[in-house]
Amino acid sequence: MASLIGGTAAAVPFGWRFVWLGAWLGAVLWVVLDAWRAQQLLHVLRNDATGLPSRAPGVWGELAERIRKLLRTREQQARQAEDRLQEFLAAIQASPNGVVLLDEQGRIEWCNQTAAGQFGIDADRDLLQHLANLVRDPAFVAYLASWNYSRDVVIDAPSQVGMHRGHPVRLSVQVHPYAGNRRMLLTRDITSLEQAEAMRRDFVANVSHEIRTPLTVLAGFVETLQNLPLDAEERARYLALMGQQSHRMETLVNDLLTLSRLEGSATPPANRWTRVRALMAQCEDEGRGLSSRLASQGHRLSFSVEVDSEIAGAPTELQSAMSNLLSNAIRYTPGGGEVVVSWRLLPDGRGEYAVRDSGPGIAAEHIPRLTERFYRIDRSRSRETGGTGLGLAIVKHVAQRHGAELRIESTVGKGSRFALVFPVTRLRQAAALSAVA
Ligand code: ADP
Repeated sequence: MASLIGGTAAAVPFGWRFVWLGAWLGAVLWVVLDAWRAQQLLHVLRNDATGLPSRAPGVWGELAERIRKLLRTREQQARQAEDRLQEFLAAIQASPNGVVLLDEQGRIEWCNQTAAGQFGIDADRDLLQHLANLVRDPAFVAYLASWNYSRDVVIDAPSQVGMHRGHPVRLSVQVHPYAGNRRMLLTRDITSLEQAEAMRRDFVANVSHEIRTPLTVLAGFVETLQNLPLDAEERARYLALMGQQSHRMETLVNDLLTLSRLEGSATPPANRWTRVRALMAQCEDEGRGLSSRLASQGHRLSFSVEVDSEIAGAPTELQSAMSNLLSNAIRYTPGGGEVVVSWRLLPDGRGEYAVRDSGPGIAAEHIPRLTERFYRIDRSRSRETGGTGLGLAIVKHVAQRHGAELRIESTVGKGSRFALVFPVTRLRQAAALSAVA
């Protein structure tokens, strides 16, 4: 080989040798430079890819540029994915339902604030804790371990935060397995739902009871009329009693219908005006009639309208609420007692319809419950005087629908004062109206 080179060298002219040498040196330099650049690039990639040179010449420069672009695209994608994940988590956080994610071992991986509040989980401290250690309700523990999640399980919320008016919050918990053995727990606060259901049951039981009593009496009279040979006077007496019972049922059904109409209909109009004087006149007619029917010596009744105003709303509802308060005052105040009915404007411009009586009064503990359906203090007096136990519930509804407030003040042995206070927005002075007209 050496001889070959030597032989060639002998044949090549002297100037060409320099050219060859230069070419060799250049090639070696190029290879070294290339290796150095590659080394540089590797070094940057190994340490911190953000330091990649931009717009460097040559293949390595282009390679660096492409890697840089690729990394930037990946970074953007990762940032977008992170943003979307955060949005999802924020959406789940905003959910009124609780969400807990469990890993394969049943340990808490993530939960939203609702679930944390309901279960008393501390999002930092309790992460990777077994949920069954924190929520020890036996029904829940058995449900979680059963791996049969076709139904939900209902438990009391273990957290002290989960109290609703002194009662524990009721939670419906349903597990949904996902991604193999991972589980997602969804919780729903069903306290109000259960309360509404209990109220519905009570209501149906109350209505049935209220209707059954007169029905039983009626059936008894029918049987008597069918089986006993009665003279004309006795028959008339029985028929009158039967009439009373059927009237009682009719009143009850009417009140029930009134209540359901109040619940289901739109807010009363704000531009339909009714004169207080007209409402009062009707109250007076009904009140005097009722008083003379109930008590032989009647009551001392007085009616006054301080400022003739108009109220915006549904006239029949207003009349029903005002008459209900008056009829209660007359029904519960013994004959000879005093009932004062008044309309006046309060200093702040609101209007007050008030009925004050000198009746038996109401003990303080009953007052908050008076507007509950079928809540009665003196059950027999209520029935004797044709009460259904729904009057004040109707009044409360009408008041709410008109933005009014029902105020009840009472002293046992002295009497009661029921007032409806209407907001300024639903009032105008009748005199002002006629002046404009
Ligand atoms: P009811 O049809 O039985 O009168 P309400 O809902 O109108 O039903 O009233 C509820 C209860 O409130 C009554 O049963 C009665 O015990 C009590 N009550 C209402 N108004 C008066 C009053 N003016 N004086 C004393 N008790 C009253």
